[in-house]
Amino acid sequence: MGKWHDKAAALQADGRAFIGGERVWAQSGQQFNNLSPIDGRSLGMVARCDGADVDIAVAAARAAFEDRRWAGKSPAQRKRVLIRFADLMLQHVEELALLETLDMGKPIKYSQSVDVGGAANCIRWYGEAIDKIYDEIAPTPASSLALITREPVGVVAAIVPWNYPMLMASWKIAPALAAGNSVVLKPSEKSPLTALRLAELALEAGVPPGVFNVLPGFGAEAGAALALHMDVDCIGFTGSTRVGKQIMQMAGQSNLKRAWTELGGKSANIVCADCPDLDAAVDAAIGSIFFNQGESCNAPSRLFVEESIKERFLEKALAKVPAYQPGDPLDENTVMGAIVDATQLKTVMGYIEAGHAGGARLLAGGKQARTETGGYYIEPTLFDRVDSSMVIAREEIFGPVLSVLSFTDVQDAVRQANATPYGLHAAVWTSDLSKAIQTSRALRAGTVHVNQYDGDDITVPFGGYKQSGNGRDKSLHAFDKYTELKTTWIQI
Ligand code: NAD
Repeated sequence: MGKWHDKAAALQADGRAFIGGERVWAQSGQQFNNLSPIDGRSLGMVARCDGADVDIAVAAARAAFEDRRWAGKSPAQRKRVLIRFADLMLQHVEELALLETLDMGKPIKYSQSVDVGGAANCIRWYGEAIDKIYDEIAPTPASSLALITREPVGVVAAIVPWNYPMLMASWKIAPALAAGNSVVLKPSEKSPLTALRLAELALEAGVPPGVFNVLPGFGAEAGAALALHMDVDCIGFTGSTRVGKQIMQMAGQSNLKRAWTELGGKSANIVCADCPDLDAAVDAAIGSIFFNQGESCNAPSRLFVEESIKERFLEKALAKVPAYQPGDPLDENTVMGAIVDATQLKTVMGYIEAGHAGGARLLAGGKQARTETGGYYIEPTLFDRVDSSMVIAREEIFGPVLSVLSFTDVQDAVRQANATPYGLHAAVWTSDLSKAIQTSRALRAGTVHVNQYDGDDITVPFGGYKQSGNGRDKSLHAFDKYTELKTTWIQI
């Protein structure tokens, strides 16, 4: 047993909600048992918030917004608080990373760097940005002046998934708070712990009570109550396309709140015969699908390889797969951890069965792993001879399963790549610059990678075309989601 096991044994997670600057249980007294996917052990009881708690949290957020205790601060003041918040996150990196790993099963080394590191960087970046944005004066006739200013939307609800709990929360709360909004965040019921701890750190950093509230609970209860609430001005949602559609409906049928959605994906990774570096393409294809146990919205889950190089590519790819055998998430050498819960495990195993039933050829994996630990683990799985009509090529699996397809020329690859309701990420590997740009233009996806798959930075937008959503997280563009444009005409 190593350092992380000792820390895990000593951990006491607080599952109470965070409303108006205080830890509270749900009004109803309802709680749910939060189980770790690593070994099935209980991490403690968590408040099961519902509509009554949503009413209280939204009222607290509204009161904080109306008295301008946060919105009324200058951008430079908000910046200082957010930078302190990011610093506090880094001071608590081990605690936050441990909570994240225990709660959702990802390897501890990534929880520290990708999740805590990425989320703190996001909070800092929006804090740093907010006092560098200028408003506009329109080129109107000389007899008047028209000021175009950005104002916070008001009360923002953020609903996030379980796969990167802290990172997805930070992509919403950082621009929303920096812009002066009050926020009510609902983390996933599968991984609520880090969001709750973030709210305490924000308060300690100087975010006033009521400005940042966190309500753990189930989607159909706390989530739906937020989406339907008449006093929520804007909802930032990240999750499945199925629920995203419901969110848009609920926003429309209530107060027409602004609704921004970041949804599922079935991203295509196209490797052409003139790929400049086949080993790099293999590393990216395998590393990116198995990262985070395949539970990434932008996972390149459809790999298209040009016929003439497919055999060579697969030989190299298969040699890489054993390195991703799932291990103990609390071991610092582990690169693939546990699947988030029993339901997700069943879903992914169901897709593996569908792969067999559909006639695909299993080249690696396909089974549960570490079954003796009491947790949920699946071997890195690779199916060849997949065609675009098969279920495993059409639906988002959200697990460590790669479907390999082939193509004859790049037009054929683009046609197949676009034959999906999703449009999140895509990639093309080629030495031909014109082909790369033409392919990028033809691919209906929010992000296209050329000769890489891991391009990622807080400065660039992240979001999808088609049913992968209608918003963009990250970058300065995210401010558009959480601000209103105000025009003020002045007679001069
Ligand atoms: P999900 O849609 O089941 O749940 C997401 C959140 O919505 C959770 O907090 C859940 O409690 C809540 N929710 C569920 N039903 C609700 C309802 N009726 N009303 C209001 N809220 C409700 O998704 P998930 O399983 O948590 O996450 C996986 C999905 O998220 C995948 O499809 C993945 O691709 C997607 N995702 C997208 C991005 C992106 O940026 N595009 C990033 C991460 C994950």
